Amino acid sequence: MLAEIITIGREILTGRTLDTNSNWLAKELTDLGIKVKRIVVVDDVVEEISKEILNAIKYGVRLIITTGGLGPTFDDKTMEGVSLATGRKLVLNRTALKMVEEKYKKLYEEGAVDTPELTEERKKMAYLPDGAQPIPNPVGAAPGMMITVSGCTIVSLPGVPKEMKEMFSSYVKPVIRQIVEREGKRRILLEKIIPSGSKDESLVAAVVKKVREKYPEVYIKSLPERFGKEVNIQVRFTAEGDSKEEVEALINAAIEEFKRLMKEDGDLTNGKEYTN
Ligand code: ATP
Ligand code: MG
Repeated sequence: MLAEIITIGREILTGRTLDTNSNWLAKELTDLGIKVKRIVVVDDVVEEISKEILNAIKYGVRLIITTGGLGPTFDDKTMEGVSLATGRKLVLNRTALKMVEEKYKKLYEEGAVDTPELTEERKKMAYLPDGAQPIPNPVGAAPGMMITVSGCTIVSLPGVPKEMKEMFSSYVKPVIRQIVEREGKRRILLEKIIPSGSKDESLVAAVVKKVREKYPEVYIKSLPERFGKEVNIQVRFTAEGDSKEEVEALINAAIEEFKRLMKEDGDLTNGKEYTN
């Protein structure tokens, strides 16, 4: 199952905020056996958000997770972007309204806000694309949402990391796990890193090219380093499949081929031993 993460917010594009959300989500999705194809950052602009969602759907992505832009302020445009992309009008969602109402009631009782009243700004957070399911926000105020349109599930989470993580772990992860299990396509992704035995990346690249031709299913990448006599360039082998045994066997075969060719073609001037 392919996924895309869309980070929304001008503060990311201006460098004011470091986008740690997409990194965290990418790790979570990978661990769930989902392949993240793209991570993009877009501005707080409805058309840009919509365009990226449509792009991802065209690409065959089945899960889109957006982060940021859910709050009550004018620059929080995520719901409008999802609405434009899906053709689902923004409607006042009763459940979401109740969530917002209860949140402000509690904040008022705690003295964190001066009125429990549902102002226009607060109400704005309860407008979701028609047919969307609200996701409770136990940490902040703005509910998230989940909607499935033409086989693609779109999940929108807030930008505040603490809120985003809590909502993903409590409400989104179990649903994704169910989808993955239903599809019975949980893919195992494994990687191994080995030292190449060479200090010259161009030379390693020639061998990597040959191994990739023989094992196209294995993604092989030399990890660049500085130049130097003592350098022993690392090479990463990544593959995925239906079982751990199958993927391990595939990676090991590619590693064996790599070692063989390095001995044949490679420059082993470092005299370093290969170790797994
Ligand atoms: P809220 O409902 O709390 O307003 P929101 O969905 O509107 O959340 P934003 O206004 O986009 O979220 O961002 C709120 C704050 O969260 C930002 O000022 C920033 O500190 C942090 N934040 C936003 N996006 C990210 C991100 N991708 N990675 C890390 N932190 C982020
Ligand atoms: Mg906000």
